[in-house]
Amino acid sequence: MHILIAEDDPVLADGLSRSLRAAGYAVDIVTEGEQTDSALLAQSFDLLILDLGLPRLSGLEVLRRLRARGAKMPVLILTAADSVDSRVRGLDLGADDYMAKPFALSELEARVRALTRRALGANQSVIRHGPLALDLAGRVASLNEQPLDLSARELGLLGILLQRAGRVVSKEQLVDHLCEWGEEVSNNAIEVYVHRLRKKLEAGDIRIATIRGLGYCLERAPDAADPAGPAAAARP
Ligand code: CA
Repeated sequence: MHILIAEDDPVLADGLSRSLRAAGYAVDIVTEGEQTDSALLAQSFDLLILDLGLPRLSGLEVLRRLRARGAKMPVLILTAADSVDSRVRGLDLGADDYMAKPFALSELEARVRALTRRALGANQSVIRHGPLALDLAGRVASLNEQPLDLSARELGLLGILLQRAGRVVSKEQLVDHLCEWGEEVSNNAIEVYVHRLRKKLEAGDIRIATIRGLGYCLERAPDAADPAGPAAAARP
């Protein structure tokens, strides 16, 4: 999952990004409002952490524009402890949660987990799809109740595909949600991650179908007892 932090205090932004990266998120930082607005126009993120006191364009205006465009990504606003008014305005403008500075990183992380899993449509930290389970808090996945040995990248990839199970996810979307800016990730590299993850899912009736020219789709395999069925035909 890819989080955008909009925060002009470098110490706070650095601390936040370190702790979120350690928790397995891809994180990018912007330090002023116009830049935040441009970044949000250019791609979608899984979560925006938005300081309301940003230079050039206020956080509230960034949020207003984002929601005016119909973007539904979760937004956690950061406010000064005494600014009840801006907190209320932020929530009214479509923020999903807020933290008043200063705050404990552990609480922020818990709120980030809650917001991202709500966006996944899950009200618990474990998302399931057939025999597959992904524990967002513990960052572990299992298949048929057996733990899967996944790299951080594979775990991230699985999360994105699981979030959109049954729907096609393009390579561009995978890059947007998996990778930080400046990371050189080629389409070939994405294919390699998908290939590895696909191998690790072979034990269950879950497959990652390649939809030529469009991307990938995580789905329950059609009846494995029918070797001539579409599952066999679609396998590369
Ligand atoms: Ca600020």
